[in-house]
Amino acid sequence: MFEPHTLPHVVSEPHVIVRGEGVRVWDSEGRSYIDAMSSMLCANLGYSESRLIEAAAQQMARLPFYASFGHRTADVPLALADDLAEIAPIPMGRTFFANSGAEANDSAFKIAWYYHACLGRTGRTKIISHENAYHGTTVAAGSATGIEPIHRGFGLPLPSFLKVPCPDPRTSEGLDDEQFTDYLIARLELLIEAEGADTIAAFIGEPILGAGGIIVPPPGYYGRVQDVLARHDILFIADEVITGFGRTGSMFATTEFGLSPDMITLAKGLSSAYLPISAVMVSDRVVEAIANGSNAVGAFGHGFTYSGHPVAAAVARETLAVLTERNIPQHVRDLAPVLAEGLGEYWNVKGVTDVRGHGFLRAVTFDPVAFGMEEGEIGATLAARAADNGVLVRAVGDSIGFAPPLISTRAELSEMLDRFAAAYRSVP
Ligand code: PLP
Repeated sequence: MFEPHTLPHVVSEPHVIVRGEGVRVWDSEGRSYIDAMSSMLCANLGYSESRLIEAAAQQMARLPFYASFGHRTADVPLALADDLAEIAPIPMGRTFFANSGAEANDSAFKIAWYYHACLGRTGRTKIISHENAYHGTTVAAGSATGIEPIHRGFGLPLPSFLKVPCPDPRTSEGLDDEQFTDYLIARLELLIEAEGADTIAAFIGEPILGAGGIIVPPPGYYGRVQDVLARHDILFIADEVITGFGRTGSMFATTEFGLSPDMITLAKGLSSAYLPISAVMVSDRVVEAIANGSNAVGAFGHGFTYSGHPVAAAVARETLAVLTERNIPQHVRDLAPVLAEGLGEYWNVKGVTDVRGHGFLRAVTFDPVAFGMEEGEIGATLAARAADNGVLVRAVGDSIGFAPPLISTRAELSEMLDRFAAAYRSVP
């Protein structure tokens, strides 16, 4: 996990970043780094995209803010919703805006609950997610998150949040992909049977689990999950907060993995992180049920003051334009082999137990024992040495994550790999 919970500034001096340009950032000491993690897997267009800066400035001058809570709204979020509907991987006629990934996921849960209420199924309140999933840290999204430090000390997860095993091929204990998927699906079916399908509202999953360790589920896994969910009228929410907008080499991982979610949650890459904005795209099926049933249930009492903030929405519109005009997903597809091959070299060196990933989302796992270290120590050591060598990566336990800006050139990817290789060589 990317240690969002550890409040590093409480326990040590923070590393302060003061400037950015392209795929590089500079710290308060004047040292420069190539950023192999796009900060928190989100600065997808790098740190100096003038079109986004200009879009923000123009919108700030035209209408810096008007709320979209209730009937009255600014024009820009409406236009952004149209843009999203146009590129949606499956018909998704409506979008709800929020400000963070966690808020988007909380909102998706409430839409799921409301959807079932509109159909008269008021008993459907439970949400299923994966162990090791990361969906944010608010009370509801944090309950869906399957990472223990997000729960500890907070009384989470809430009792209506259920977990199924993580589809991590490293835990397959010798089963092949198909057998492992059979096992995972059997566990899902057992849980649904034990709880009763009529108590379950939705299942949320990341197409590739990010903060839990950059885990690519076995091929076909989500397709089979969807079949089970469809049989039981349980909604499927695809959390594309990391995978959305090009990181996997497609605009949406949903398309790439052939999924048909009822909702897709989005954040990070939506504005290339230049301003906070997130979204829940809602499928026509769900919208229709809500439109038909909401008079009986009453208004959907949910929203945020800054939902669809016009300046953030203007930046998001421009981000989508840049992604499309420059065909950034294709660029990721073209250059992903540079990362795959460069990191693939680690299969041949001391102390590596796994190399994995997809598109511009990859990880290498190191064995602390091979370095005479305790668990977690080699990851932290390598991340620190990487910074010493001018490249920023993130340790997820003893895995090192790579999620470079999507605009990275071949030369910049090679430089990231070379700098990390120097960091690896510096560890005895
Ligand atoms: N969902 C996924 C897949 C994420 O990776 C994250 C954050 O890393 C979130 C949700 C939560 O997003 P936020 O930190 O904006 O609340």
